[in-house]
Amino acid sequence: MQARAIHISGIVQGVGFRPFVYRLASQHDLMGWVRNTSGGVDLLVEGDPQQLVDFVAALPVRIPPLAHIDALTVSDCPPQGFQRFEIHESAPISGAMQPISPDVALCEDCRRELHDPDDRRYRYPFINCTNCGPRFTIISDLPYDRPATTMADFDLCPDCATEYHDPTNRRFHAQPVACPDCGPQVWLEVGAERVEGDDAIWQTAALLKAGAIIAIKGLGGFHLACDATDAAVIERLRRRKFRPAKALALMMADLDQVRAYCQISPAEAVLLCSPAAPIVLLMRRADAQLPDNIAPEQPTVGVMLPYTPLHQLLFDEGLPPLVMTSGNLSGEPVVTDNQAAREQLAGLADAWLMHNRDIHIRADDSVVRVWRGAELPLRRSRGMVPLPIRLPFSAPPLLATGGQLKNTFCVVRDDQAFMSHHIGDMEGLGALEAFEQGVAHFEHLFLVRPQVIVHDLHPDYATTGYAQQRAAAEGLALMGVQHHHAHIAACLLDNAHPLDEPVIGVCFDGTGYGDDGTIWGGEFMIADYADYERVAHLKPLPLPGGDAAIREPARVACAYLLASGLALAPDLAPVAHLSDEARRVISQQIERNINTPLTSSAGRLFDAVAALLGICQTVSYEGQAAIELEAVADPDAVGLYPLPVSEREIALGPLLAAVVADLHAGEPIATIAGRFHNSIAALIVSVCQRLARTNKLDRVALSGGVFQNTLLLDKTVPSLEAAGLHVYTHRRVPPNDGGLALGQAAIAAVRYSEKAKTHEISG
Ligand code: ZN
Ligand code: ZN
Ligand code: FE
Repeated sequence: MQARAIHISGIVQGVGFRPFVYRLASQHDLMGWVRNTSGGVDLLVEGDPQQLVDFVAALPVRIPPLAHIDALTVSDCPPQGFQRFEIHESAPISGAMQPISPDVALCEDCRRELHDPDDRRYRYPFINCTNCGPRFTIISDLPYDRPATTMADFDLCPDCATEYHDPTNRRFHAQPVACPDCGPQVWLEVGAERVEGDDAIWQTAALLKAGAIIAIKGLGGFHLACDATDAAVIERLRRRKFRPAKALALMMADLDQVRAYCQISPAEAVLLCSPAAPIVLLMRRADAQLPDNIAPEQPTVGVMLPYTPLHQLLFDEGLPPLVMTSGNLSGEPVVTDNQAAREQLAGLADAWLMHNRDIHIRADDSVVRVWRGAELPLRRSRGMVPLPIRLPFSAPPLLATGGQLKNTFCVVRDDQAFMSHHIGDMEGLGALEAFEQGVAHFEHLFLVRPQVIVHDLHPDYATTGYAQQRAAAEGLALMGVQHHHAHIAACLLDNAHPLDEPVIGVCFDGTGYGDDGTIWGGEFMIADYADYERVAHLKPLPLPGGDAAIREPARVACAYLLASGLALAPDLAPVAHLSDEARRVISQQIERNINTPLTSSAGRLFDAVAALLGICQTVSYEGQAAIELEAVADPDAVGLYPLPVSEREIALGPLLAAVVADLHAGEPIATIAGRFHNSIAALIVSVCQRLARTNKLDRVALSGGVFQNTLLLDKTVPSLEAAGLHVYTHRRVPPNDGGLALGQAAIAAVRYSEKAKTHEISG
């Protein structure tokens, strides 16, 4: 007989790891024990030497679906003559951090039971197990145990208790475990009527088929749902929600239904069915019957599969694809609370499908795109948060507050960065409150008392104000980080780039405050985590009326033409769009330099070109013009426009002149849009090649909101690679401002650990 002591770290708690070890040990006739520790799982096994070898070999390959092993160490130890294999309860260690799982989509075992008339959870809308169900959104406190969740008020019935305490059961220590006898219940409120149980499901499905808009309580918040094949109800939803153009997410019954409406690659199918169950952007099928007003002017549509048992039961009633958009008032955070849903969604929904399992913290659906067979995140939230991202170094405890739009924040503890769920645009009244609640919750869950608070350089961001006030009130260190440096650092961390190796950073973005007080966004830099140097950028051009111009690409186009010495030909779409008066004001603003902040933003260049091509003169959501420009572009268009680089500045006049010339020559819009993408790609490649040569660098990091554009990635990345450059794109956090906080955290972490090394700070 021999014995082994084994230590495993990674995601091994709350994912059914100890029952798995128990079963595996039993299969190999091994005795001993397994227990959770602060950083993972410890086990001791003894028995036949060959069985031990087989056990150790099987351990990493047969782990439960949600587990992930970071490190596994095995050492010999003397056998102690155990008589059985046991799961040891471990007392919580004070100060130790427990990993917290994201919410997980309904698993196949639970789906089978949900549909099995002989199962005691047949048609139970809250069925879950160790492998699936709510996690992050129901946890209110530590240690992660049922009393610290919103399941605390539901006492386990004897049957559920037996399963919960049985190490061989799939529901062993599944904190949200419940059944129809002891768990949460669902009901439908329609008018003054309240309908319970199965009737609630059936009536909801019937109402949806009849063209109603229903508020449905999900995992991380309410959705507004309606028939996605009914253009009239979608129009009504858009009017009620004040959301004229932004694409609406869909939920479809299963992969077969998705295939009927969308083109879908194997990688996209895997993502749709993954435990995170995000919204995946898919190409619509030209022959499919989806109304255009789901995603106006876009060839893609965002689709997810039913990820809770409640969704599954609704789709079991034979529903068409549903619109499933966040249940919120325009610009406000998604509603999570029943009473708030009744009040705030009163003008939006015709009925409410609710339940009495509370949502402790909101989590909007995550959104991803597949590029080159891999995930390109556009929003990292439900199903992904709060999985940590590892830093290649240890850091003092800190809080990075993120940006103003698509806000997320990040807390760092040791070498782990915890990115928050999607908070959203910080302009709304409820956003700052949601932000502060989220920060307090994360600091509490992950036992972080920040010593440093990081913020964007923009003085007017709500997050900057928060950081300054809190740092002053609590006597904490405060650090401002340049917006585009943060984007590049996020991309470096996303790719586990090592310390102290500079790269070429290309940050093409909408808006970010520059070191010189102008607005940046078309930046080439030499950067590492600690620092950066701006080495080239798009020529700064005037933004008439400042931020207001961001909503009106027509104004940007006219201003860019005038500032480049080009005529406002009356046949150009943005010129025709604006009144004589508006054009006169713009020319005067530019001539006299009144209220015309300068910007080198690539996002504004996309806006200007989209306006010139007649695609988009005003926008109702961030990035609309660029999204529609990408959609229109002919990917096979040949030719490009000049973007001459002199010194450190890239002139835009020649490109704008060439676009106007092509328009006047009657070239198709698709061709011009394609050539514009070719031009931006060629610019990036040529500048990067030069920077690589002069700085002896071979790595390029692409970040900023513009790199959500996969046509641009398609045209840029292969050429960079052909030039011998290694390219980093985003894989785990978004290239847009939803990833900003990670970069802020990385920069502050490195700067502070370097300071600590040189003893400039103490403590
Ligand atoms: Zn399950
Ligand atoms: Zn029960
Ligand atoms: Fe940005």
